[in-house]
Amino acid sequence: MSEARARIPLNWPAVFMFLITTVPVLTVFPWYAWKFGFDAFEWTWFVVLCFLTGLSITGGYHRLWAHRSYEASKPLQIVYMLLGAMSLQNSILIWASSHRVHHRYVDDVDKDPYSINRGLWFAHMGWMLRDYPSGKVNIANAKDLEANPIVMFQHRYYLWLAVGMNLGIPLLLGWWHGDIWGSLLLPGLLRLVVSHHVTFFINSLAHYWGRRPYTSENTARDNDLLAFLTYGEGYHNFHHIFQWDYRNGVRWWQYDPTKWLIRTCAALGLASGLRRVPEFQIRKALVERQIERARERLAECDDPSLLKRLQAQLEQEASHLAELIGHWAALQQEKIEATKQKLLHQWNESEAHKKLQGLEESLRLQQRRVRLIGRLQVA
Ligand SMILES: [Zn+2]
Ligand SMILES: [Zn+2]
Repeated sequence: MSEARARIPLNWPAVFMFLITTVPVLTVFPWYAWKFGFDAFEWTWFVVLCFLTGLSITGGYHRLWAHRSYEASKPLQIVYMLLGAMSLQNSILIWASSHRVHHRYVDDVDKDPYSINRGLWFAHMGWMLRDYPSGKVNIANAKDLEANPIVMFQHRYYLWLAVGMNLGIPLLLGWWHGDIWGSLLLPGLLRLVVSHHVTFFINSLAHYWGRRPYTSENTARDNDLLAFLTYGEGYHNFHHIFQWDYRNGVRWWQYDPTKWLIRTCAALGLASGLRRVPEFQIRKALVERQIERARERLAECDDPSLLKRLQAQLEQEASHLAELIGHWAALQQEKIEATKQKLLHQWNESEAHKKLQGLEESLRLQQRRVRLIGRLQVA
């Protein structure tokens, strides 16, 4: 295996990028911290920039561009695009395209670019360090993004934007504060390395450590600690089953600052079309998984007669539950239809509807007049 891997060439740009960021963090950074220390200004900006760049990856790269779970206005997209470039995780086009492949072929050792089944290190960083066939970029799945001028601008000038943001912002902060090196090292360099690993945790730890309340069909996990570190992306089991929902922490109390950011942007008119999975589908997934877990636990019972009795009881309860869920889901669907009908009825009765009918009639008349004039000219 290691021999076969050694034959795969190193991905030099990625190796170089990780070397020039990681080595100074392990050497120059501690030396500078010990010799000169950092102050509250630099620590504050470290935290602020961690959040700004991190949320641009989770809210922008991930939930907006990779999954299209909502729509964003141009100003919001430009902010995501710039701060996303500052995160140094490749262009939106490449990032979102390989993330779509990850969802489509999750856990497949040959097709998932960061499959956890190739080990924790591979899923975390290893996949980027060599030109693995599984990591080959194919943007055929991102035609929608190719049509987006903001995405394509960033893709074309990615290197300039990434270097410019990573040097420009810390230099500006250093000039403002009167300590260039302090800002380059803390809000600049350490922030970059920390935010790299925080994102990489979603590919490694979020497929390895935690619970699976919604589905056992893939390795994705829900983990509160990871959610805290990753701006809400740690609810990864939910995310893999309902990937187009703009929320990852679906309950109101689950820590998901990305969903709060998206909601705030929607309230400010900067985002719209927030997509949510209907509650009954979520509940159905939860119940089905509970039944599955009960079956697994029962299988551990070593008294054959007790096992048989309990299994029969469980299957009876499970089918009753399935029946209830079926009824419940059908009624929920009916409720949605009734709401639609009610809205339609309200619309038909409204003044606006009458105005619209009048307008349509005038439009038809006007078109007829234009056509007539055309014909007169021909005659
Ligand atoms: Zn995943
Ligand atoms: Zn995703």
